[in-house]
Amino acid sequence: IDSVGSDEAVIATNDDASSCKRCAVALGYWSDRYINYFIRSTTDRKAPEINRGYFARAVAIKILVDKFIEVTNGNCQIVNIGAGFDTLYWRLGEEGKTVKGFVEFDFPGVTSRKCLYIQRTKQLLQAVSDEDYDVKLNRNNLHGHTYKLTGVDLRNLTDVEAKVKESDLQYSLPTLFLAECVLVYISIQKSSQLLKWIAEKFKSALFINYEMVNLGDRFGEVMLSNLRTRGCDLVGSEACQSTETQRRRFLDYGWVGADSCDMMGVWARLPPEEIARVTQIELLDEQELLSQLFTHYAITTAWTDHRWSEVQL
Ligand code: SAM
Repeated sequence: IDSVGSDEAVIATNDDASSCKRCAVALGYWSDRYINYFIRSTTDRKAPEINRGYFARAVAIKILVDKFIEVTNGNCQIVNIGAGFDTLYWRLGEEGKTVKGFVEFDFPGVTSRKCLYIQRTKQLLQAVSDEDYDVKLNRNNLHGHTYKLTGVDLRNLTDVEAKVKESDLQYSLPTLFLAECVLVYISIQKSSQLLKWIAEKFKSALFINYEMVNLGDRFGEVMLSNLRTRGCDLVGSEACQSTETQRRRFLDYGWVGADSCDMMGVWARLPPEEIARVTQIELLDEQELLSQLFTHYAITTAWTDHRWSEVQL
């Protein structure tokens, strides 16, 4: 598979993630009034373990994002890299949580589709519009007053730097970077360059990385080979060997602190009433499978400013 071929396969992982989210939302795991605008109804029901996995991730990340907005009093920016069809911007807006800038980066092949969906959906478009600011739209990019959606290849640092500028991001503002299942598709060399560049430029940054870990064991091998069969190049999997390698990928490249916890640990820290509620939604045939999944994903946080070390579950 050539580079373009594997980029296509990586782009397709977004459709997969979106349909899993849609499925879990439809079953009531969490609420998201916007996901349906990005992904057509799907008949295939996902396994209960998958739904619970998506739930744990969605809730944990939302708690962390909310905390960051709270401690910065909204005087911050959020940059979602490899954002896919994520709906966070609209969900925050609905809750009245505002930030100074909200930027999403992904391959142009993804952002062009997202632009189109936003453009044709009143509920999405309204939220990115501002009466004093005309939304600027072209094929791959959308520039609202606060919300910016930009097509870029994250492996190309020169382009990333140019797009950061175009998106009106301020290097001096507290900035939350979010990456969910993205870095594994980028070579270690390129992702390290990106993380180093962010740490050099953004002196008050927090990074939240949700990704695979423990890929060296048998279950991990199966996960990798499933993705490879679909044509994905998992060139970044070296950093996904353990929670320690996930921490090191930041600490070795200019971040002053980092924490990493697998989803087993994350699950234990989620609000007990939420756990009690979602465990009623579907019965699990096999607890073992859920444990396997939970020990193979982790949330890693890293910061360039010690103040953000307090943003924890
Ligand atoms: N973060 C979203 C989520 O959790 O639903 C999407 C996750 S999807 C598994 C991975 C995303 O990363 C895809 O949308 C893909 O296009 C994007 N991505 C991977 N490599 C990229 C690169 N080099 N440049 C830009 N986007 C990239």
